[in-house]
Amino acid sequence: MNIEKYKQLISEIKPCKARLIAVSKTKPTEDILALYQAGQKIFGENKVQEMASKYEVLPKDIEWHLIGHLQSNKVKYIAPFVNMIHSVDSVKLLMEINKQAEKNKRVIPCLLQIFIASEETKFGLSRDELFQLLDSKEFRGLKNIRICGLMGMASNTENEKQIDAEFAGLKNLFDRVKLKYFAEEPSFKELSMGMSSDYKIALAHGATLIRVGSIIFGNR
Ligand SMILES: *Cc1c(COP(=O)(O)O)cnc(C)c1O
Repeated sequence: MNIEKYKQLISEIKPCKARLIAVSKTKPTEDILALYQAGQKIFGENKVQEMASKYEVLPKDIEWHLIGHLQSNKVKYIAPFVNMIHSVDSVKLLMEINKQAEKNKRVIPCLLQIFIASEETKFGLSRDELFQLLDSKEFRGLKNIRICGLMGMASNTENEKQIDAEFAGLKNLFDRVKLKYFAEEPSFKELSMGMSSDYKIALAHGATLIRVGSIIFGNR
C-alpha cells in the first residue's frame, strides 16, 4: 500500500481528465479503506464473490467496477450494486445483465471488451464480433443496460511500439463505433485501457478510465 505513489498517480492523470480505477483484487479491505480515506472512491475487482463480500463491509459510496471475465450465472450477485461492468464480451452475457438489472429496477452501465492483444489467452470481442453484436436485434431490445464505451488490454510485452499500436487501434475503433452507433448518446464516452505497466501509453491515446493495481497496492 503506497499512498505517495497513489497521490503521484492522481496528479499525473489529472490533466488528462481520465479517472483512476484502483484495482484491489486479492487485497484486504483494510487496504481499500485506507485508500478510500485518502480520497479514492472507485475500485475495480475481477471476481464476483470477492467484490460482493467487499461491497458488504465497505462504505456504500464506493463505486465498484467489475473488470474481470464474467460468467452469466454470476451476474445476479453483483447486479444490485455494481457501477460498471467492463468485461462484456457476448450478447448472451448482455441479455443476462439486462435481466438482472431489470429485476433490481436499475440500468447497469457496461463496456464492451475488445480483444486487442496478440496473445491467445485474453478475453474479448474481435472487431467483427463487436459489429455483429451492435447490429443484432437481441441487442436493440435491451432497456436495462447502457453501453458506455469500450475496454481493452494490451499485450503483456516490453515492446512499447506494439502496446502503442494496440491502444491506438482501440481508440480508432472507439471513434468509429461512437460515430456509427452512439453519435446521439453522450453516455458513450469511456475508453477503459491502461494498467500499471502501460497506463502512460493509454493516457496518451485518450483513455478515460485507467485500471491500476500493483503500483498502488504492491505486487500480488
Ligand atoms: C489486475 C488487472 C488490472 C490491474 O493490473 P496491475 O498490473 O496490477 O495494474 C487491470 N485490468 C484488469 C482487467 C486486471 O485484471
